[in-house]
Amino acid sequence: MVFRQCAGCKINDDRNNLIRITFAKIKGQIVINKADRFIFGRSLYLCKDIKCRRLFANPKKMKHYFASRQKIAVGEINLDDNIIEEIIK
Ligand SMILES: [Zn+2]
Repeated sequence: MVFRQCAGCKINDDRNNLIRITFAKIKGQIVINKADRFIFGRSLYLCKDIKCRRLFANPKKMKHYFASRQKIAVGEINLDDNIIEEIIK
């Protein structure tokens, strides 16, 4: 098992139990990274707790998270509304 940490509550869990959100740098796009379509890039993990998901179900917060880690401008990051919807559904 590969353990990753939830960006909300900081709990460590099996990567497969967490939702993985990746910044695909080449496309400049934030995507939900499913195991069947693995995408390279810096990732953020969230557990199944709706409180953690709601924390990041905010386009501004999500863009800032990746912008600061990639050391790029927020304006260089694209995020579709359906990504936010998928995180909190
Ligand atoms: Zn959590």
